[in-house]
Amino acid sequence: MADQTLENLSTEERRFEPPADLAADANVKEEAYDRAASDREAFWGEAAERLDWGQRWDQVLDWSNPPFAKWFVGGTLNAAVNCVDRHVDAGNGDKVALHWVGEPEDDTRDITYADLMDQVCRAANALTELGVQKGDRVAIYMPMIPEVVVAMLACARLGAPHTVVFGGFSADALASRVIDCGAKVILTADGGYRRGAPSALKPAVDEAVAKVAASGVESGVEHVVVVRRTGQDIAWDDTRDVWWHDVVDAASAEHDAPMHDSEHPLYVMYTSGTTGTPKGILHTTGGYLTGTSYTHWAVFDLKDDDVYWCTADVGWVTGHSYMVYGPLANGATQVMYEGTPDAPHKGRWWEIIAKYGVTIFYTAPTAIRTFMKWGDDIPAQHDLSSIRLLGSVGESINPEAYIWYRKNIGGDRTPIVDTWWQTETGQIMISPLPGVTAGKPGSAMKALPGISIDVVNDEAESVGNGNGGYLVIREPWPAMLRTLWGDDQRFIDTYWSRWDGLYFAGDGAKLDNDGDIWLLGRVDDVMNVSGHRLSTTEIESALVSHPKVAEAAVVGAADDMTGQAVCAFVILREAAGDGGPDIVEDLRKHVAKEIGAIAKPRQIMIVPELPKTRSGKIMRRLLKDVAEHREVGDVTTLADSTVMDLIKSKEGSSSED
Ligand code: ATP
Ligand code: MG
Repeated sequence: MADQTLENLSTEERRFEPPADLAADANVKEEAYDRAASDREAFWGEAAERLDWGQRWDQVLDWSNPPFAKWFVGGTLNAAVNCVDRHVDAGNGDKVALHWVGEPEDDTRDITYADLMDQVCRAANALTELGVQKGDRVAIYMPMIPEVVVAMLACARLGAPHTVVFGGFSADALASRVIDCGAKVILTADGGYRRGAPSALKPAVDEAVAKVAASGVESGVEHVVVVRRTGQDIAWDDTRDVWWHDVVDAASAEHDAPMHDSEHPLYVMYTSGTTGTPKGILHTTGGYLTGTSYTHWAVFDLKDDDVYWCTADVGWVTGHSYMVYGPLANGATQVMYEGTPDAPHKGRWWEIIAKYGVTIFYTAPTAIRTFMKWGDDIPAQHDLSSIRLLGSVGESINPEAYIWYRKNIGGDRTPIVDTWWQTETGQIMISPLPGVTAGKPGSAMKALPGISIDVVNDEAESVGNGNGGYLVIREPWPAMLRTLWGDDQRFIDTYWSRWDGLYFAGDGAKLDNDGDIWLLGRVDDVMNVSGHRLSTTEIESALVSHPKVAEAAVVGAADDMTGQAVCAFVILREAAGDGGPDIVEDLRKHVAKEIGAIAKPRQIMIVPELPKTRSGKIMRRLLKDVAEHREVGDVTTLADSTVMDLIKSKEGSSSED
């Protein structure tokens, strides 16, 4: 489809049909939807056959005590064996598992499945020596280095649930997670490389361990295992600290993997904290690995010779499901990159894609909009012709960002999978299937085979095509969270008590006339202007469709006249300069034209940055505080706390009606 035509079409009319060659060759065919719908349990049972089991299960699903699900009841398996050993046993030991790229240039390592098996076995033996037993929790606080993957798999091998804490988090955040899940060992590094310089990790661990001890928990942190990554000077406690290379390299490379019950806890992962304080999501083994490996194979149409790259940090669920467990269970070759996209230059990602011939690329809208802001000329300098499939996750991808991504990164040929899911769901739930489902810019399209999604009103009735409401999940799915760590009641209250038997996702959604799903943002962010319900996502997408705009965030602020008024915060593209004297009025008119006068923002602030979580999601609740002239609330999960000062300093210069 020629560009010009595309831009002249309305959002609903833009549509990419699956290319015929892809359709012929796709891993999943159209019939999978009906087959899964007619016998969901048989469908997931078949997906579980993709894994190696010690003991086969007797029952696919036990849903006799909702909302507490058990999948593959009676089955036993080992997640690490499924991610590593079985590929070596199948003769693929020489296949590269990780093309690891450090941030300093030329700092690279290629790690084969045989190398990975060697390392995971040694690490499992080393952890056993340190007293880690099945069921013990282990905290992992590391940069994006291969050892973090080894650490997770070693824990999984032993049946010691890990909790990975993002390396950018503070000592406080680490301490509160260690306390919440009672971890007795922390695996870390002296530091890592970020934005062109070594950053430190060990000092935060020391501080966190002291906080844990002071908190009065029964057993504190017994050991800290430290990878030497940067060689910087660090404080050392001989009674507690050991070097990774001392204990892991010295350990045996032989390790007999025990089998674990299908429902044995695999890990606890805390949510991003976009809407409030993070929740400790518990994932277990058999269902989680089934859900992630199947969806990674189906959604990315994974083939043997693909080179896959998911840019997520391992500190988020995307790093768990689609960098570690899903792709490794599938024996994929992938790229793993330590640093930021602009170090040492803004073309770093594209350089990496060209070097390794990446074929499948999975990133977040926040990154895509940043590249839009930087300009088309940067990706244009690199050979991206190896790419055959693009993915997006984390927020709605605005139609304009989708089209930019497809054109500038995908060479106007590649399908895009916009994948909706959550830390809680563990696996992708809504996404087009390449070769099967058409793509519409801005829509996540359809629930995957075996997944039952609906959009309902306040009375839990399906709204039907053409209408909006709350996104819910009607039937259990294999990788679903089992509970919140240590808090069954909060698990029930948060997800299962709004309506009987329905999982409440907290997101708003709309079904278009074809029944395809459009995510509209968080339910709590829906605005009510003079009795009209407006979605943050739709107005943000209208703003981003203006040629001068790179990114936008919209909130509803209390308003005496209208109940709520639309307030927008906008980042301009670099090529647009300051936007010119009429930019605010232009943008207000643009929104009125795209959506209607009711959606016209009362206030638009042109800002240099937006407040985002460390996983790159816009934190609208902080912007709402600004729009309502309040003290700004909890900023502990914010990536850069100076952003709010910058935004507040702009407050006086905005235009209000
Ligand atoms: P918290 O629950 O602590 O507030 P969070 O919801 O941001 O944090 P995550 O589990 O990382 O934590 O994010 C899941 C949410 O991200 C979804 O509920 C949805 O709002 C958003 N999301 C993820 N993928 C998409 C997508 N493809 N389209 C639209 N929204 C998405
Ligand atoms: Mg959430």
